[in-house]
Amino acid sequence: MNYSSTRGENVKLTSAEAIIKGLATDGGLFVPDSLPQVDQSFIEDLLPLSYEERAAKVLGLFLTDYTAEEIKTCVNNAYGQGKFDCEDRAPVTDLGTMQVLELWHGPTSAFKDMALQLLPQLMSTALKKTGEKSDVLILVATSGDTGKAALEGFKDVDQISIMVFYPEGGVSQIQQLQMLTQEGSNVNVTAVQGNFDDAQSGVKVIFSDKAFGEELAKANVKLSSANSINWGRLVPQIVYYFSAYADLRKAGTIASGEEVNFTVPTGNFGNILAGFYAKQMGLPVHKLVCASNANNVLTDFLQTGCYDRNRDFYKTITPSMDILISSNLERLLYHVTGNKEQVAGWMAELAKKGSYEVDKDTRGKIKEFFWADFVDDNATKACIRQVYEQHKYVLDTHTAVAYQVAKNYRHATHDEHVMVVVSTASPYKFNGSVLEALQVETAGLDEFDLLDKLQEVNEQPIPAGLAALKTKEVRHQDVCAKDKMADAVLKFVAK
Ligand SMILES: *Cc1c(COP(=O)(O)O)cnc(C)c1O
Repeated sequence: MNYSSTRGENVKLTSAEAIIKGLATDGGLFVPDSLPQVDQSFIEDLLPLSYEERAAKVLGLFLTDYTAEEIKTCVNNAYGQGKFDCEDRAPVTDLGTMQVLELWHGPTSAFKDMALQLLPQLMSTALKKTGEKSDVLILVATSGDTGKAALEGFKDVDQISIMVFYPEGGVSQIQQLQMLTQEGSNVNVTAVQGNFDDAQSGVKVIFSDKAFGEELAKANVKLSSANSINWGRLVPQIVYYFSAYADLRKAGTIASGEEVNFTVPTGNFGNILAGFYAKQMGLPVHKLVCASNANNVLTDFLQTGCYDRNRDFYKTITPSMDILISSNLERLLYHVTGNKEQVAGWMAELAKKGSYEVDKDTRGKIKEFFWADFVDDNATKACIRQVYEQHKYVLDTHTAVAYQVAKNYRHATHDEHVMVVVSTASPYKFNGSVLEALQVETAGLDEFDLLDKLQEVNEQPIPAGLAALKTKEVRHQDVCAKDKMADAVLKFVAK
């Protein structure tokens, strides 16, 4: 299977090459030339398998240049070795009216681990396979969860180093501590004086700066990306849609071939796009519901066909969704239109004036697959409280956005398909907002008191990685202006 850019540049790469490269030279994203198709027996065969075995089967359809043995090793290194605190890796919890797919049992307690434990394995295998002699520097812009998950996945991986930029003051205290205490000899963490979009745009500028790339090449360094623009980030995420479906089949919740819905708390459109791929491959999915917070640029787009980032940016209690440019939408536009020239045109408009509008046909096709809504912080908190009162189950804020939007969807459409709410973080990761939602008094408590406080009302234990932060030393203190990120990279490379 070959991969090429969404913007039409005339190159064909293997998956290993696309994973090393991250972003195409023309600024586009790598996409597979065709999508593999599965039938019902492929899905039924997944039922008795472990998560690792399911992953190997799904990944094998896309990573056709990797041997079965290579994929198996990558998958076991990523999800085995005691890194996940749950035997099922990504279990589905039945709350009666909703099924909750928990994607936060990995080392950093957020769904990013599902992809970022595997990406470094795929990338270091790719370096060996392709005989690449340069060192690879991973540049990451993070709204919080990606940074820590990428650092944890890439730390001390041979031939690869990693630099993470996060918006100063734009991530939760726990997220910040997780990053600033990161160990490993090949890592750097730098705060950017700006918001997430500034950090992400800064990284994109660095990637597309040819002269800068040549300067790095002199130091034998090539850039790559661990953001969800990297194909190696996206492909692992397709697996858990299949795995969740197999678990629902196994539990007898659905019949063979029965369609289900997924509601996904969305930021960069990576998670929900993986659901789109699963559906296109033949997984019985009826609707993908895109849940946003007050930064509702995607809600507007999916409803009207007009993408407009020229609007106020809000800091919400769901910081991992505080995004106005959802990079992976570009991949969707390509798959829906099949027209790279047109995609390149829209992306040029987005870069130039911050907006674009798709044609009626494209808008119609997108609406067949997606439904969208958003909720504000108050509705998010009310949802956390309500679900706790009904089920004694504690949702994190991001998951609560999805849960509430899933309810809104049902109310608006009367669609009674089984609904899977995709849960993207442990509530402990956003304990301040969660406790506030539960109306627990938190005055005067520090981050670690808050963990303990939440433990008092939550049956789930505090994740080991979060509990351990208390005694870890802060190792990173770099700060840079948003137009000085390239200089920061050179400084790290020169070290
Ligand atoms: C990253 C993240 C999201 C958004 O996922 P995208 O793939 O960027 O749409 C939602 N919730 C949490 C907790 C996250 O870390």
